[in-house]
Amino acid sequence: MSGGFDVERVRKDFPILRQRIHGKPLAFLDSAASAQKPTPVIEAMSRFYESDYANIHRGVYELAERATLAFEGAREKVRRFLNAGEAREIVFVRGTTEAINLVAQAWGREHVATGDEILITHMEHHSNIVPWQLLCQEKRAELRVAPVDDRGALRMDQFEKLFSPRTKIVAVTHVSNALGTVNPVREIVRLAHERGVPVLVDGAQAVPHGRVDVRALDCDFYAFSGHKVFGPSGIGVLYGKAGILERMPPYQGGGEMILSVSFEETAYKGIPYRFEAGTPDIAGAVGLGAAIDYVTALDAGAVAAHERELLDHATDRLSKVAGLRFIGTAPQRIAVVSFVLDGVHPHDVGTILDREGVAVRAGHHCAQPLMDRFGIPATVRASFALYNTKADVDALVAGLHKVREVFG
Ligand code: PLP
Repeated sequence: MSGGFDVERVRKDFPILRQRIHGKPLAFLDSAASAQKPTPVIEAMSRFYESDYANIHRGVYELAERATLAFEGAREKVRRFLNAGEAREIVFVRGTTEAINLVAQAWGREHVATGDEILITHMEHHSNIVPWQLLCQEKRAELRVAPVDDRGALRMDQFEKLFSPRTKIVAVTHVSNALGTVNPVREIVRLAHERGVPVLVDGAQAVPHGRVDVRALDCDFYAFSGHKVFGPSGIGVLYGKAGILERMPPYQGGGEMILSVSFEETAYKGIPYRFEAGTPDIAGAVGLGAAIDYVTALDAGAVAAHERELLDHATDRLSKVAGLRFIGTAPQRIAVVSFVLDGVHPHDVGTILDREGVAVRAGHHCAQPLMDRFGIPATVRASFALYNTKADVDALVAGLHKVREVFG
């Protein structure tokens, strides 16, 4: 137990962590890719399927009523989680990727024209690059990219210089998945709003590590995925300010999003339903609601202190491994360490670590332009969550010594 946070108690909530992998205790260090699920999330979803399941918003019978209440209840939990002003500002989507595509298409098609500019950063995940590229190709607009420094921090001086009268939107990650860098989002929003430019924040890596307040950030859009915040995959959230969402046309057409349809004319529902065509991941929303209940019941300060300790411990121990070079040492970081080992391909590192029960990510982390920036094809990334321990870090370090024995 450290700083009032009982990690052993938390670990009991995650049944998957109890197993051994190749005969070794599992050290799961890939939560940035997808986090494991606590029992309350697993149980909430099976309970929902066992007793309350039906399609939503349509039926007049008891089960449909219960399912609709559960789905809309989850929307309200998300609203509170993000401190949004109204539940109708919360759009359920498949995940961060779909949320960004929704904005790029529904908002972008109306607001971006030939010669306009979209401002992103060099540390974006592909899902905050490619949707904007598609829009730029369609509209003959320009994607402008703010650079990062050698530590992996955003060059704010350069960022500010990249605004022009043609800048139509800023899309920026709150936290880098590949490096752990935390961006000064409040400042970015202030700079953009001074110029009348809206801001989309990719919050996929931020929500698992601390409280996010969209009203304090004052961002126009905020996107995150359920599966990274201990909820199920297949469900995620787009927050948008009501005033902006209301003026956006639909993203996809289908059932659930219409008021009336004829072959001549279709009238759409208000927000958020206009953006939720088709049957959504109903149980996924229920699971996400349970995940939000789970994380918000924990002491956020104690979780942050625990993760900070893990990061410090990992940084200290890893810096003693021969030939290890950290990629990403920005002063503001969450508990992610990315590194390369001299003379060993990251995939080989990952494979040997797996034999030791240590699960890490090896690759470009869907951030190829960022890898290019550092002149490498890939890194090994260990990412920590609230259920990790110093023993997990020590297993990683011991595994890296084995890698050194194999590769010299
Ligand atoms: N943005 C960031 C920063 C991410 O880390 C990820 C996933 O790794 C995504 C977006 C995409 O999330 P999803 O695959 O859940 O849509």
